[in-house]
Amino acid sequence: MKVLKFGGTSVGNPERMKSLLSLIQLQKAEKTIVVLSAVAGTTNHLVAISDAYHKGEKEEALTLIANLYDSYVVFIEELFSTPEGLQNGADLINHHFDLLKGFAQELFTTVEERIILAQGELLSTTLFQFYLKEIGVQSVLLPALSFMRVDDEHEPIMDRIHHDLSNLLDNHPFAEIFITQGFICRNAFGEIDNLRRGGSDYTASLIGGALRAEEVQIWTDIDGFHNNDPRYVNNTSPIENLSFEEAAELAYFGAKILHPQSVFPAQRYKVPVRLLDTLLPEAKGTLISDSDENKGKIIAIAAKDGIIAIRIHSTRMLLAYGFLRRVFEVFERYKTPIDMITTSEVAVSVTIDNSTHLESIVADLADFGDVEVDENQSIVCVVGDFGPATHGHATRVVEAVKHIPVRMISYGGSEHNISLLVHTENKIEVLRSLQNRLF
Ligand code: ASP
Ligand code: MG
Repeated sequence: MKVLKFGGTSVGNPERMKSLLSLIQLQKAEKTIVVLSAVAGTTNHLVAISDAYHKGEKEEALTLIANLYDSYVVFIEELFSTPEGLQNGADLINHHFDLLKGFAQELFTTVEERIILAQGELLSTTLFQFYLKEIGVQSVLLPALSFMRVDDEHEPIMDRIHHDLSNLLDNHPFAEIFITQGFICRNAFGEIDNLRRGGSDYTASLIGGALRAEEVQIWTDIDGFHNNDPRYVNNTSPIENLSFEEAAELAYFGAKILHPQSVFPAQRYKVPVRLLDTLLPEAKGTLISDSDENKGKIIAIAAKDGIIAIRIHSTRMLLAYGFLRRVFEVFERYKTPIDMITTSEVAVSVTIDNSTHLESIVADLADFGDVEVDENQSIVCVVGDFGPATHGHATRVVEAVKHIPVRMISYGGSEHNISLLVHTENKIEVLRSLQNRLF
């Protein structure tokens, strides 16, 4: 069994959706589960529709719905060529768009919002299945809402996913191609929910893990993880092999190609994950596995913007215990995760990337000492082997940024990275300078 996930751009227009079949057949797998995202742009559009409903702007919501509908009318006209296919496509989009319009009559809560967000994947998967049917290729649509479950902490329930999905598969012993929706799931109340934005990768990895698949493939529009951000740095190159830990660091720190959480199920069940490029299917891409291929090396640089640094300065911290706990409790209270931490005897600096509760957090922290906030920061993370057997790597990193002010440096937390916090306006220079010095 292989699990193949195709992102929004890979199904972004009818031509590309049609070309997926050859990528599936290329695998020569006995059985394949195809996980699809919504057509590119759809989920953002659905978010806008739901925001409009939320604000009570029904006319605006209906206009947005009409615009999205028009784009799907064009989509099905190009996707299908038989009268029957066209009719099925039209019935399908009418069904989903009638549902979207129907919310104008209702009380609008997060339950309705999540139903709206789910429509993109429901549409893309069914359209793809109808297309396969039209050209005479057998496939089975597995409804993600029948097996993808999260608990009250929003954590996937692996046993249950394994059990329910295996049962569904057993109903079709001779089928070779299965199609299912990425992103969407049911929550602890049985409501329609989702795995958060970009969550289709996570779906693929959860399925791969639950079924102990031979391999999970994430097909996107770049030929794997690059050793630096190709948007800002020339001459980046794809990394052929990554360990799960290295991939998790890179995915978390900005490399948009993979949803960070999606590494963990694959790691736990030792399922290799391959990142591949739909436009360049022969390219090797990146293989994420148990490999220790990169021992002793610096592998990649990634950056994450939108970071806020908070410094709490207090002489009460000197020789005291329990101080950090109280500081961390503030962040816990506001459900705001901390990324980087550095401490001195009288001060601690932390970073967060979610400013929703910033004001309250700062107000609460003021009880402990002076609080300083720096916004518009970027974490630049260098991933590689920084383990006890290596030396000199940190020096090379710091050397490379000697002409740039650095707000924080975090080293030694794991053996896989060193992270620098810099002002976002210096980020590109940092990425370039590191590229020149390290590779
Ligand atoms: N369609 C969802 C999103 O745009 C999930 C995904 O594409 O991975 O976030
Ligand atoms: Mg994605």
